[in-house]
Order: sequence, then structure tokens, then C-alpha cells
Amino acid sequence: MSFEIINVDLNGRIGKLYTKSGILETPYFFPVINKNKLVITISELKDEFKINGIMTNAYLIKKEYEIKGLEIEDIHKILNFDGIVYTDSGGYQILRYGKIKAEPENIIEVEEKLNVDIGTILDVPTGIKKDYEKAKESVKKTIENAERSIKKITRRDILWAGPIQGGIFEDLLSFSSHEMANKGFDVLALGSPVELMERYNFQQLIRMGIIAKANVPTGIPIHFFGAGHPMILSFLVALGYDIFDSASYALYAYEDRYITAHGTFKLNELDYFPCECEVCSKHTPKELNEMDKNERTKLLAKHNLYAILREIKEIKERIKEGTLWDLIEIRSRVHPKTFAAFKELLRVAPKIFNESPVFKRKGIFVFDQMSEERPEIAYSRKKELEKIGQKCKHIILLFIREESKLSNNIIGKIVENIKLDENKMCVYYLNKFFGFVPIWLYWTSPFNKIVSPEDTLSEEKIEEIINHLTGSMLSSKEVEMTIIRDKDSFLLSEKFIEKLSVEKGIKIRNKIDLE
Ligand SMILES: [Zn+2]
Repeated sequence: MSFEIINVDLNGRIGKLYTKSGILETPYFFPVINKNKLVITISELKDEFKINGIMTNAYLIKKEYEIKGLEIEDIHKILNFDGIVYTDSGGYQILRYGKIKAEPENIIEVEEKLNVDIGTILDVPTGIKKDYEKAKESVKKTIENAERSIKKITRRDILWAGPIQGGIFEDLLSFSSHEMANKGFDVLALGSPVELMERYNFQQLIRMGIIAKANVPTGIPIHFFGAGHPMILSFLVALGYDIFDSASYALYAYEDRYITAHGTFKLNELDYFPCECEVCSKHTPKELNEMDKNERTKLLAKHNLYAILREIKEIKERIKEGTLWDLIEIRSRVHPKTFAAFKELLRVAPKIFNESPVFKRKGIFVFDQMSEERPEIAYSRKKELEKIGQKCKHIILLFIREESKLSNNIIGKIVENIKLDENKMCVYYLNKFFGFVPIWLYWTSPFNKIVSPEDTLSEEKIEEIINHLTGSMLSSKEVEMTIIRDKDSFLLSEKFIEKLSVEKGIKIRNKIDLE
């Protein structure tokens, strides 16, 4: 097996992809290079940025070598790079220029001669075509190309990537990813999103990302072509994407644009650099502006690459900590378009994140209703709470703020005093996110891990909790209740008592006030 998963949060994972030139730790960002137009040199990438994998274009090298009449040799030798080399196939050139002079078999042959570590078959990108028939044709053609390429492959030490097409058409995308996932590729790659990325259409990107990923088995790493902006990377990782590539760091630099995880800025708009990289700590925007174009482009490209790699590192740390959701919430507020992406994610979160770990070492932060959709809360609410309470004849509801008062000892004494049959009794405490939670879950994650700003419950929320209690949790209206509360919770408990007894007709047998 070439891919091993180490840590998971949401659907994001830290993984190891084994290639013949070394191990790639994912999520990984491949800087795309053109060897004839290097903005940052290969040795700088290696030494300053610790890059162990780069991406380049097999078709462009083929074309160049043909024109020069040269024999193709090992790409590692051509680039003087001993790390992992991943090649794109020329599909992108088809997208930009319509046609290229190569058949799928030629590209495989070239990639094998180049001795690449990961090679892509020649695909026909859909782009963001509005014409359904043309989009369908590109999907069909890519699948045909895949079949022709597989027949041509002789080297199994190279990992082969199969592109998924379909563009904005959900049925085509779904069909394509299903077909490609069954062809035995080592890596799958979602094609076409570059144009959407350039237009900041993150909502559509997320939608495509969800559909394409849905058909890909967990054990296959998946690449999101052309994702080169740190603003959106955390969302894509959360969906389960492992590999990214872009030349954005250099292309933006040519246009004097400065990339950050909060957005893109024109260099001449900046008075300060909000960054601590080598470039930004040694220079001011003014100094960069006064440099000659080549020098400036190089320094800006270095900063841009730093900003992307910094975000990848942050994402990885978040996956390990189990706080990737928190990072997404932060990024959702940097731009209305990332907020749209977040809302798109919320729409499907309960469905796609239902396997995400809910046991967390750290506090689970809740800011507003949107945070309540995070899987630790939404998933636990569903899984843990709906299956309980069926056998209860007597329910004890605890309204208690101070943890010390929740000890079994105190509860035990009360139960003894009011002479309840322990076998027919259920004890719940009020948790404002989950409603009434069985007392034995009080000390477990996620129930004890939630950190939130305010301590009040809205009328709607009280209504929702009562309805949940009387609807799915109670076996019948015949149950009786005992309320145990501390001083701080007196008013709140009264609200519940009134609704339960007056509106729902439930008998409250005891009210016990703790000192
Ligand atoms: Zn910087």
C-alpha cells in the first residue's frame, strides 16, 4: 500500500504517501515550476523551504526536447532535484489552448522516460463549461484516455494519478469520480477548478469537492488540482483532500500581489507586511516597491510560497489537535466568499463528517449557532442522546452549575431520601448545547469540553430542549420528575418546570434546592 493515514480530524488527514524518491507527508502542497522560468531556484526550494516534492509539466518538457532534438532523460537529473517529482500531463494546456499534439500513450512513455515519481495520465479537462454535451464529452474522453494509458503503463514503481472531470455538472462529476476510483490509480485528482479558484468562487469549489470525494475510497489519496490560495486550503483538507499544487506563488508575484491567509493584497496598497517570513522581516513594502522587477518578483514569490506552506503547517497541527473546525471558522470570516464556502460545508456537515472523532483532548469552542454544527456536537447529539431514556419511569433533572455538587455522593443521598427505585430512574443534567444529557456522560468528551461565550439559553433553545425531552426521550407522559437545582440555576429551572408541567402535563414530584 502506498498511502498510510496517521491522524484524522473532520475528513482531513495527515498521511504518508510512499514514492520511489521518498515519503511525502500529506496534506502536501506541490509548488509548480517551469524549469525555464524559475522564479525561485530549485536549490532555494530545497534549502530555504525544505521542499521535498515539486510538480512540473511532462508535456512541456516533451515539446521542448522534441524541438531541440534531444533524448529525454531522468527528470531528477534535468532539474538537479533528488526529491519527489510529480508531473502534470498537458491537460491544463488543452484547457487553455484547446488542443495539444500528444496522445495518451505518448504522455505515459514520456513520464516513464523522465522517471517521474508520480505521473498523471493525459486528461481532457472540463473546465467550467456551461455546455452539458461538451462537458460530457470531456468526461468520456478522459475515461477512454485512462483505459488507453493503463494499457501502456510498464512501470509500477511510478505512482499514477487519474484525473476526475465533470466541472460544474454534479451527475458528470459523480460518474467520473466513480469510474476513475475503480481503475486502480494510486492517486485521484479533481481537475478543472483553477478558473473557479481564480474567481474566488469557493462555494462552487466546495460543492465540486464534496461530490468528487464522495466516490473515492478513504485509502486513496486525492489531489485538488490548482488550489494555491491559503484562504481555502483548510476547507479542502477538511473535505478529505490530501494534495495540492499551484504556480500561484510565482504568478501572483509577477503581478505584484501579496498572498495571505486573510486574502490577497496589491503590494502598493500595503504599508506594513503582516508576516514574519524572511522577506517580510527584512523589508518594508516601500523597499520592495523600489526594487527592480526581477528582484521584487523573486522576493514576493518567496513570501507567497511561505504563506501557503505556513497554512499547510497550521492545518496539520490542527488535525493533530482535533481543532480543524476552529481554523475553518476563523478562515470563514476573512472574506464573504470563504463564508459562502463555510455555509456550503455546514449544509452537508452532518452527513460528511459523521465519522470524525468526537473525543477531544482540548476544549471545543462554540461561538454561535454555526459552531453547534461541528461534528463533536451535532454527531454526539444524534448518536448518544436519541437512544436513551426509554425505560425511565422517573426522571431526575439536574440544573447545576457547580461541578462539585454533581458528585455521585450528593445525588445518591437525594435518591435515597426520596425513595426512588434506581432501576426505573434516569438522571439527566442540563447542557445548553445538547439538552438533557445522561449524568454518566457529564465527565466525558465532548460533553465536558465545550467552551462558549455566554451562559444564557434563548427561549427557542429551551423550547427545542423541552420538545426533544418530551418527544423522543420519554417513553410516555406517565413519567414523574424530580428537579434538583442550585441557586444559580433557580430561575432557569423554573422556566423548564412551568413548560413541562403546564404545557406538557408532566408531574413534577419533587423540587430539591441545593445549598
Ligand atoms: Zn512574508
